[in-house]
Amino acid sequence: MASDAHAHPRDLSLREPDSEAVRLASGVRCAASSWNGEEFRYLERLAAAAEAAGGPAMVLCFGAHPQLPASDLGAARRAVALLGEFAAAGRLGAVGEAGFDLFDAGYRATEAEQTELFESQLEIARGADLPLVLHLRRAMHKAFSYSRDLARLPAVVLHSYPGTLREAEDLLKRGVNAYFSFGTTVALNHKRAMEACALLPLGRLLVETDAPYQPLRGRECSSWGDLRAVIAAVAALRAEAGRAGGAAAEVEAATDAAFSAAFGLDGGAPSAEGKSSARG
Ligand SMILES: [Zn+2]
Repeated sequence: MASDAHAHPRDLSLREPDSEAVRLASGVRCAASSWNGEEFRYLERLAAAAEAAGGPAMVLCFGAHPQLPASDLGAARRAVALLGEFAAAGRLGAVGEAGFDLFDAGYRATEAEQTELFESQLEIARGADLPLVLHLRRAMHKAFSYSRDLARLPAVVLHSYPGTLREAEDLLKRGVNAYFSFGTTVALNHKRAMEACALLPLGRLLVETDAPYQPLRGRECSSWGDLRAVIAAVAALRAEAGRAGGAAAEVEAATDAAFSAAFGLDGGAPSAEGKSSARG
């Protein structure tokens, strides 16, 4: 089994109509992001079908993406209202992706709105005791300004981890049950991600495709099959650094266990299991 900590299966299905059949056949568990009701209900049907067939789990995540207020603030606020309903009804495995995107001037102009949305989502995650999938672009400092709130959540998944090794270690020291998810960037020569991924405790690592949004070079979109390439790249970096997880099978097993811990699967309470896997 392999576990994809962050993907958008609805958007992927629009580009690759047989993508769910491919996921089921390859046994890839995933945390599936959505931000509107139609997308969520579609994923809910896939998750139920996979479960009924004894297939790989799909963890349902819902949140107002931080890029959304730049194009449609009304839709972003509706997403937060829906998030509250879904969380209260026990239909979610995690909140997100939520966070901050300060990548360019257009997004930076909505920082106040992003803050409003993020704080509401944090409160919902806290109230429902759900893990949070964090999207941070040029916004790693926000993880520290909210670290006390993040430390109260069962787990926090930093998707496409944008920070340094040192920042990751500092977050863990502040008591955040953080998991650091790496995608195709580690196979695309992004130095900071490669260093963090090589040197962090193995039990804190996750892998993701962000399908369809993080294509490898020369490809149109990312998909489930790319998880193999990410796992191989992580293993090569760890082997080179002389750290645990120097073989692909080890990385696959460790990131599967971290996925279960972060999202509270296999009966384990996320915080308890997460803390016991802090070494590695
Ligand atoms: Zn994403």
